[in-house]
Amino acid sequence: MSIHIKPIGIIQTPYKQKFAIPRQPGLVPSALGTIFFENEFNDPNYLRGLEQFSHLWLLFNFHQTADKPHSPLVRPPRLGGNKKQGVFATRSTFRPNNIGMSVVEFVSIEQKNKQLSLVVRGMDLLDGTPILDIKPYIPYADSVPQANGGFAHTAPTLMQVEYTAEANEQLLYLQNNETNLKTLISEVLSQDPRPAYQTSKEQNKPYGMTLCNLNIQWRVVENSNIVFSVEKIN
Ligand code: SAH
Repeated sequence: MSIHIKPIGIIQTPYKQKFAIPRQPGLVPSALGTIFFENEFNDPNYLRGLEQFSHLWLLFNFHQTADKPHSPLVRPPRLGGNKKQGVFATRSTFRPNNIGMSVVEFVSIEQKNKQLSLVVRGMDLLDGTPILDIKPYIPYADSVPQANGGFAHTAPTLMQVEYTAEANEQLLYLQNNETNLKTLISEVLSQDPRPAYQTSKEQNKPYGMTLCNLNIQWRVVENSNIVFSVEKIN
């Protein structure tokens, strides 16, 4: 049996590459994303009543890794990247059917030039991710306070993020009123985006990521991320 699925929309997010995207939703609350609906779903009736809910489930397609093979065992970053778990015992992106699910915060419904869009906050999705479905988050049924979260029971510890004087100056120059860039960068880097197997070893090595239209570079010194360059990509 095979099932055909048609995306209902595409999400636009600050995350232009897989590297440095938070590993679960809610970890970077200042990141805003906008779902633009496909023609067939470009009708506000589909969203009527959605604004009553503070949070939503997004079901989506891990489109960037969809053509990669999956195997029964994966190495979750939370286990240091060297211990294997069954793929169905993880939230790995490399899985049969490539379906992702994330709880995000509802922000607003917009309509500009007949294009309907839905703004959400805190997603862990790559820019351009196809959205398959949206459902309201229902606390009484979806939240299980006594649940055991296995190897990922608690949120990861956060790293400190500091800026060199030069990076601060660059930020001041680039800052627009829509997003607080520094907060966004700090929230992303506090998650320690380095591959799990590297974290204990590499010191002083420069890392780079693209966020919105910015190229951000930092170094890890002891347990801090030191941002030394924030540049606009032309
Ligand atoms: N909360 C989701 C995703 C967990 S994995 C779930 O449990 O299903 C989160 C990672 O997915 C991110 O760190 C990013 O590296 C990856 N990711 C996000 N969007 C993606 C996409 N469209 N294609 C491939 N990988 C993606």
